[in-house]
Amino acid sequence: MSCIFCDIITGKAPAQIVYQDNDAVAFYDINPKAKVHILIVPRKHIASVNNVESGDQTVLGSLFLAARNIAETQGIAEKGYRLMVNTGSNAGQIVYHLHMHLLGGGVFDD
Ligand code: AMP
Ligand code: ZN
Repeated sequence: MSCIFCDIITGKAPAQIVYQDNDAVAFYDINPKAKVHILIVPRKHIASVNNVESGDQTVLGSLFLAARNIAETQGIAEKGYRLMVNTGSNAGQIVYHLHMHLLGGGVFDD
């Protein structure tokens, strides 16, 4: 099954990548809901939080380390930012490759 975020991770689909390490890749959201709206995704395809396994702990922890790092780089660490993980249709999850939204610098529709 094709996955747009897997395609971005492997370079098959375009994205403005702002951060990457062994476990995570981060890029700008194409439909930003804040001045800074970045998606942080694990390299491993995990469909949603509902599909998380105990072996994923390190990978998931790395999303937070990435968030901290990116917030610092983007200059929003001090003033603050929001981290959001939508899970399932009632939460509005559209892309079924687990991702953390990093929203900062003023959220547009709050
Ligand atoms: P969610 O509703 O949590 O599944 O969020 C999916 C997010 O991915 C939305 O904010 C979209 O704007 C964003 N998105 C979808 N396709 C792409 C893409 N190709 N590059 C960057 N962001 C994307
Ligand atoms: Zn994927």
